[in-house]
Amino acid sequence: MQVLKFGGSSVANAENINKVVSIVQKASQKDKTVLVISALGGVTDLLLSAAQLASQSDEAYTAQLSVIEKKHLTAVQELIPVARQSGLLSAVKKQCNEIEDICNGIFLLKELSALTKDRVVSYGELLSSQIVAARLSAEGLHNTWKDPRELIRTDLHYGNAKVDVETSNALISAFFAKADPAICVVPGYIASAPNGTTTTLGRGGSDYTAAIIAAATGAQVLEIWTDVSGIMTADPNQVATARIIPHISYQEAMELSHFGAKVIYPPTMQPVLKNNIPVKVKNTFAPEDEGTLIDNTPSASGSIIRGISSITRIALLGLEGSGMVGIPGFSKRLFEALANAGINVIMITQGSSEHSICVAIEEASAGKAKEYIDQAFSVEIAAGQVDPLIVETSLSIVAVVGDHMKNHPGISGRMFGAMGRNGVNVRAIAQGSSERNISAVIYKADVKKTINVLHEEFFETTYKQVNLFVAGVGNVGSRLLGQLRQQANYLFHHLRLQVRVIGLANSRKMVFSDNGIDLNNWKQELDKGENMDMDAFISVIHSGNLRNSLFADVTANATLAGQYDKLLSKSIAVVACNKVACSSSFEYYRTLKDLAREYNVPFLFETNVGAGLPVIGTLNDLLRSGDKVNRIQAVLSGTLNFVFNNYNGEKPFSAVVRQAQHEGYTEPDPRLDLSGQDVMRKIMILAREAGEQMEMEDIRNETFMPASCMTGDVEYFYAQMEKEEEHFKKIYQAAAVNGNKLKFVATYENGKAAVGLQQIDPQHDFYHLYGKDNVVLFYTDRYREQPLVVKGAGAGAEVTASGVFADIIRASKI
Ligand code: ADP
Ligand code: ASP
Ligand code: MG
Repeated sequence: MQVLKFGGSSVANAENINKVVSIVQKASQKDKTVLVISALGGVTDLLLSAAQLASQSDEAYTAQLSVIEKKHLTAVQELIPVARQSGLLSAVKKQCNEIEDICNGIFLLKELSALTKDRVVSYGELLSSQIVAARLSAEGLHNTWKDPRELIRTDLHYGNAKVDVETSNALISAFFAKADPAICVVPGYIASAPNGTTTTLGRGGSDYTAAIIAAATGAQVLEIWTDVSGIMTADPNQVATARIIPHISYQEAMELSHFGAKVIYPPTMQPVLKNNIPVKVKNTFAPEDEGTLIDNTPSASGSIIRGISSITRIALLGLEGSGMVGIPGFSKRLFEALANAGINVIMITQGSSEHSICVAIEEASAGKAKEYIDQAFSVEIAAGQVDPLIVETSLSIVAVVGDHMKNHPGISGRMFGAMGRNGVNVRAIAQGSSERNISAVIYKADVKKTINVLHEEFFETTYKQVNLFVAGVGNVGSRLLGQLRQQANYLFHHLRLQVRVIGLANSRKMVFSDNGIDLNNWKQELDKGENMDMDAFISVIHSGNLRNSLFADVTANATLAGQYDKLLSKSIAVVACNKVACSSSFEYYRTLKDLAREYNVPFLFETNVGAGLPVIGTLNDLLRSGDKVNRIQAVLSGTLNFVFNNYNGEKPFSAVVRQAQHEGYTEPDPRLDLSGQDVMRKIMILAREAGEQMEMEDIRNETFMPASCMTGDVEYFYAQMEKEEEHFKKIYQAAAVNGNKLKFVATYENGKAAVGLQQIDPQHDFYHLYGKDNVVLFYTDRYREQPLVVKGAGAGAEVTASGVFADIIRASKI
């Protein structure tokens, strides 16, 4: 004997039912077969809503009933040869009339009891199974149709009735012993109470019907045929990279389904586990796929976590009070009150202080729970020993499940670490002593993010998706996007990273795409976007609540730099090429560093000093390894270096500056470079990273720029420079006569920083510094005689973009 159960989508219409029939045709050649059939997809919901509408005096229920009737009649017409249709058509019509009669009654009485509801929904399975049976017969597959109300006995708990296993087993065994059909078709989901009324086994209950029959008949196998190719590592509707689990234990399947994996109705496992009947989960629409095998052989090691699931709409009940400590019986009374209210407890935690007990239940029962529990503890509440029950809603539970978690340290660390890095606040935690499941209560809004984060954490063979928001598409930004596009394949195959640009903005426009902006086409996409609004941009990053969110600031915008705190405190990583934040007040710099530490989220700004050169990273590595920085001496302005390397008194100074700007080596306003301001910011950032509490006013700047050049707009500045050509020539010649070169040097020593133009003689490390190169000399305890030198191009869009790119990857890998 084998039991095959086909779910709602498998029998949603004539086309699908034909697929079912061909699966049965093949299967029935091997063994005697029981088919358990669900209602046509969506029909249970339609029936329930028709009954609900009728009870609310809403005549729309008649239209719903017409839809239901039409669905079934169409299926009959499409599946059964015309000559054989009439009997089934009139049977379907008759039953649809019965549904209508009941609903008319509900409409008149304005009352819908649980008993009547079960009666109404039972027609879903009754009708679908008769249609499948008729189609099998039409195909020459002789079969017997059996009403499960004669096989499965339950209590009177309508809507979710409890099965009387002993009686049901006896009824089922007796029937099959006597009838022994080759193919038996049984409607799922429905059963009967001892008083003969129709009951149902809970939503999704056809799986359970099939398991009960499989257990009672000692079937060789139970096959659950559905619309996915097996149990997956996570709900495929939530996690795009979810994978089929080829093999899973009964216990693991039970935990996953209990914690929300809808693919199997939770009570299903109980009868088959007890009788050791293997279960296969198969796909009606891809029958050749292997599917998932559930049995009690140990699952292959490998991934420690087998799957991740979640239940939404959870409420957390907290019972607290000083009167509870050390006094036995409080938890008994709490659970008694919940049992009396008929409320199912999903999760329990109690701190060892015994000061509070925390229970997770379905959100819909929260009101009732509060009423019953406050009543049960009314005396203690009045005496101030126990507080009134605290109820929190809008919560969910996520659970990671796996037999191999047992005795394997570090799983919860990884789980909560990954959640913490993504700013997911955990409200309660439970781990059963079987160590097969760790569950956490979190806010409902965080569920999708959390499941994806955990999936990436535990199923490493998939990839990690990074959701990037980029502000700024100028010289550097546009190259960054180009590099991201060019490296997408490499990142995916070598680092298992998929970096998607979810949001993009320049000063005028912003655009968002949940699936990632097409980087071949970003200019057009951005042009079509909405008008840029910085607050709106930041709030989309917040509200998107995407895992591994990362903001890259490739602007020089001060207002934007003032928003980093809002991002970091939401666990959104910040990568800044923009120097404003780290060179603004020390207080803000400190706040950002503290937030990054507090929320364990990357805040990286390597390109603030030396563009793509590893300057800040090197300094940090030195300090972290215990070295002490005694002096930093550096040429940090690619712009000034370019200018003084190209200026020899022949071509005007202003023309050289213009060339530097044209080639992308200057800030948008070149005066930030020429005045030494930009170098001051850089040496201050290095000093701050070295632990110094430094402000811009603390830095000495011996500027070479005439005051006349420093006012007005950029064009005025160029005009003034032309007038001051003699001034620049003089500076150049003073150095040239000594055989020296001019370099704008920054130093940090003994807590002090200074910047200024210096004549550099040919013996000095700085002499051979060409083009737009930067150089940084670190004199430390370990690099005492000869400094540690970092040297190379210190400006330019391509290298700066590559520095930002490297920071993005660094932040993504954490
Ligand atoms: P049926 O109507 O065949 O009983 P269900 O809709 O009850 O089918 O269950 C199958 C659905 O369960 C899938 O289509 C999928 O969307 C959902 N699902 C949720 N979690 C999982 C999981 N971990 N593995 C597979 N499917 C899942
Ligand atoms: N038709 C019922 C439901 O939709 C039972 C089932 O499909 O398993 O819940
Ligand atoms: Mg189901």
